Amino acid sequence: MQDTYRHKGLRRQLVKTVRGKGIKDERILTAIGKIPRHFFLADSALVEHAYEDKAFPIGEGQTISQPYTVAFQSEMLDIKPKDKVLEIGTGSGYQAIVLLELGAEVYTIEYQKKLYERTKKFLPSLGYHPRFFYGDGSKGLKQFAAYDKIIVTAGAPTVPSELIAQLKIGGILVIPVGNSRTQKMLRITKVADSKIRKEEFNDFAFVPLLGEDGWKG
Ligand code: SAM
Repeated sequence: MQDTYRHKGLRRQLVKTVRGKGIKDERILTAIGKIPRHFFLADSALVEHAYEDKAFPIGEGQTISQPYTVAFQSEMLDIKPKDKVLEIGTGSGYQAIVLLELGAEVYTIEYQKKLYERTKKFLPSLGYHPRFFYGDGSKGLKQFAAYDKIIVTAGAPTVPSELIAQLKIGGILVIPVGNSRTQKMLRITKVADSKIRKEEFNDFAFVPLLGEDGWKG
């Protein structure tokens, strides 16, 4: 697949749209302007629509998140270069690349074996190297904890306590929590060992977080 002038032009439009919706972090907008999103869509019939600000199917009943959602979650995380970040829900790998472009060290875990295998091959072909894991991320990824930041890219029924446990003091967890149709975006900051600050943002619609501390998939 090629990245043509037309694709680049469509990306500039997408950046304008995402900026217009309130995203201010220029580093995130630059990443969206750089990443060829049309490479990430499983269905070639959708390639024409890759730069619309919409979620799209990526196979296995899963989706690549809407670019605005990726930008919003990334902005909430306030990534600093070298931050150690755990992403739960690798999916297409698009969000992981945005985090890498922001200078993070990325650990990403996926529950669907086929998606894990596909994305683990695909991202290195674009020159991106997060650390890939296969399994249930609803309990985090204990062996590499603690993390500066944790991002959950699927809708959870509640905040898994294990994710808070795996944050460093001062660390941030961004997670959509709600029912199977809509979730509120939460930002949880671990201010001390047993103290958190919780902030609530807008409603979003994610595919469900499965697994032991998710919707028991
Ligand atoms: N971050 C992805 C991207 O940029 O394409 C978006 C992924 S999609 C909205 C959510 C992903 O979370 C799906 O790939 C799904 O299989 C995965 N998922 C759901 N429950 C999970 C769990 N318990 N552990 C790890 N991944 C999970």
